[in-house]
Order: sequence, then structure tokens, then C-alpha cells
Amino acid sequence: MKNTPLVRYIFVLLPLSFLLVFTSFKDPGTDQPYRIKTIVIDAGHGGKFTGAAGRYSREKDVTLKVAMRLGKAIEENMKDVTVLYTRTTDKHFEEVNSKDLKKRIDMANEAKADLWISIHCNSMGASTKNRTSVRGVETFVAGFARLNEQDAAIKEYMALEEEYKLDEKESEDPATAIFLSLVKNSLREQSIKLASFIQNEYVASGRVNRGVQELSLAVLRTAIMPAVLTEIGFISNPQEEDYINSDDGQNEIVGNILRAIQTYKRQVEL
Ligand SMILES: [Zn+2]
Repeated sequence: MKNTPLVRYIFVLLPLSFLLVFTSFKDPGTDQPYRIKTIVIDAGHGGKFTGAAGRYSREKDVTLKVAMRLGKAIEENMKDVTVLYTRTTDKHFEEVNSKDLKKRIDMANEAKADLWISIHCNSMGASTKNRTSVRGVETFVAGFARLNEQDAAIKEYMALEEEYKLDEKESEDPATAIFLSLVKNSLREQSIKLASFIQNEYVASGRVNRGVQELSLAVLRTAIMPAVLTEIGFISNPQEEDYINSDDGQNEIVGNILRAIQTYKRQVEL
């Protein structure tokens, strides 16, 4: 019997397919319910890409410290989860920024990770009048502006499943288009859910809430998994620079993100 691409993909693509029907989906091979197994933590910037700078610290160094602490906290508190890091040292991956960002997501897609969390510090421009007074936390999810790139990434991901390479004709199939749009909507909903949990945790710790934002960011838009980029504070604000560099501040931020991941995990693993 010839299955339509839509039906076929639902049964062969994990973890993508869980997103479509994740409350009742069981892996047909093992009859195991969906579990979050792999989380990728991305320390923003690195190497030649230093990111924003405060009075005495650089974004790439702060994000690496927080990313390493977060990974350790996940390993200690969520024993069934594997943590992957895009970097554990001060390095970049490509000479061009856009390629560097894509490389990071490619690693996560290839690892078939279940979650992507990118750590960044915010900053107001040097010439901005309120550079030192603006503060707060915000978390980004991929906006809808450049989703054709996400289509291409999903197709690339499918091609990793050797047996299920899309031929030219299937790529144009209306069922494929429906499938891609279902996947994108599910990824978006799950990403927003995780981003909201992270913001809720920050707020509970007394941080200034700048909300969940949708934006077309290179580091998010080709992710084939729920993906967020969280801005842990303004490095351009002296108080927040001190906070994000301090042990107490970093531990609080890590606790916030850890609890948000645990809440998210409980919800999707019903
Ligand atoms: Zn950044």
C-alpha cells in the first residue's frame, strides 16, 4: 500500500512527530511514551564574536559561565536527560557570524535534540541615552518572518532519515506543505510555552519582565525542535552587569531556567 507522505512522515519522524500529537503519541517501535532526552545549551557568541560589553565584562564570557552552570544543574537534577553544549570553551565555529549561528543549530538538528536553549546578555547601544538604566529579562522564539528557511531545514532533517528522502515530486506535494505547516505551528507553540515558563520564573525572582518576543533570529529559525533564546539581563546596566557576573545572580538565573525546563518537561511527558 502506498502511504501518502503526510501519513508516512508522522510515523517515521521522531521527535518531530510527537509535536503533532504529543499527548497521546507512542513510539510505534518501542511503545514508549515521548521523553525529553537531549537538551542543547548554547552559550551565545564566543571566540572572535565577543557579543555585547559592559564596563568590565563581555557577553561571550558571561554566557559561557551561565551555560556551563545550567548544564551541570540539569545533569544533577534531571538524570534522564543528556546535555549537549555548542561550546564549552571560548571559541567560534565559522568566520562569518551567520554561518557560525547556523552551525550551532545544525549540531542540534543532527543530534535530534528535544530542546534548544541559547543564553545571551542584552545591551543598549553605546550612544543610547538610557543605556545604563534599561533593565530586565526577555526570551525570544522564532518569528514567522522567514519560515521558508525552516521548511528547508525540516526537509534537510527528513533527509537524515536515509530511507525517507523526499524526491522532487514529493517536495511539491500538498500533503508535504500541510505537514510542514503543522510541524512549524507545533514548534512555535512549544517554544512559546517554554519561553513563558522561563519568564515566569524570572519574574518570581523579582526581575523586570520584558516578556516573550517573536523575532526572526538566525540562531532559532532553522531549529527543528522547540527553541528559545533567553536574554538573562542587560550587560549595559551596571547593576545587572554585577548581577549576571555574580555567583548569586548566575545561580538564581540557572535555577529559574532549570525549573522552567522541569515544568515544561512535566507538561509534554503526560
Ligand atoms: Zn547576544
